[in-house]
Amino acid sequence: MNITALIRPNILALKPYSSARDEYTGAEALFLDANENPFGQWNRYPDPYQKQLKQKIAALKNLDANALFLGNGSDEIIDLSYRIFCEPGKDKAICLGPTYGMYEVAAQINNVTLIQVPLDAAFDIDLPALEEYWERTDIKLMFLCSPNNPSGNILSEERISTILDRFKGIVIIDEAYIDFSGTLSRATQIGNYPKLVVVQTLSKAWGMAALRIGLAWMSPELLQYYNKVKPPYNISAANQQLALSILEQGNFEQEIKLLKTEQAWLSRELSAITQIKKVYPSSANFILLEVEDAPALYDQLSAHKIVVRNRHGIIPNTLRITVGSPGQNKQLIQTLKTIFHA
Ligand SMILES: *Cc1c(COP(=O)(O)O)cnc(C)c1O
Repeated sequence: MNITALIRPNILALKPYSSARDEYTGAEALFLDANENPFGQWNRYPDPYQKQLKQKIAALKNLDANALFLGNGSDEIIDLSYRIFCEPGKDKAICLGPTYGMYEVAAQINNVTLIQVPLDAAFDIDLPALEEYWERTDIKLMFLCSPNNPSGNILSEERISTILDRFKGIVIIDEAYIDFSGTLSRATQIGNYPKLVVVQTLSKAWGMAALRIGLAWMSPELLQYYNKVKPPYNISAANQQLALSILEQGNFEQEIKLLKTEQAWLSRELSAITQIKKVYPSSANFILLEVEDAPALYDQLSAHKIVVRNRHGIIPNTLRITVGSPGQNKQLIQTLKTIFHA
């Protein structure tokens, strides 16, 4: 299917809102066009296309700023994707589960059926299970999460390539944790796959969850639809400025290196506790654990004022633990030893 055939007809036909900053893009001028207040420090509307911030991110990632879309968190990008490609009550999407919960929530909000195809026993892509979906024209979107949340593993590169070759719709690869994984981003390949969207975020490795900035790398043909549908000023001026200055000063490589070392340490320490039945290998900044009774352990940790994520509802008797600072990780291990009398 070509891209136009994948876009909802109402979105194809949409004449987007043309903001004041769209209609005049020249340099400094006397701006009397947007009904802004002439006084104050934050009185002007922000750049709707976040050019400066995009250039900075693209330079850091060694990618093309013209292939970058920014959302108010990746969650906005996920929601926009349903709105652009899936006719409510008619079109469908696929995700490979267990995985990130927002794909399902955003699907429900948009009245789109999300088919959850199970991952295999190693939480990797089960290609035979996808076989029946290759020719379906009502499935417009497929979400792949690599490294996967909450299991922490990366998906097989080869199997992702098979999906990119065979699936007729849009493939969204969510790389929220890619910077911890030591693997190459698929964003380098958007030139080869015009229907590929690679989603990343400043919320995790970049330490800016509070600023709500999600990234999506894609072909220029796809990008025009995201720009058409997004709220005109979807990233506030304050958040654009803060992100830019943090990106200019940040010590990301060293932080990521430390978190990876801590992840390895935490995995070893957790594995040494006999009451923990399984410590899943992780390519992210979290670790999935299987225990005898996850809800009970969750409560015991909470009683010690340590909050982890209970994933029992998704994968039986599992908890997902975020890698913290060295001191926080030591405190967690000490507390687990106390709880287990280990
Ligand atoms: C944390 C996370 C995100 C990030 O969402 P933001 O809205 O950008 O904060 C996206 N995808 C997955 C799988 C995540 O775990």
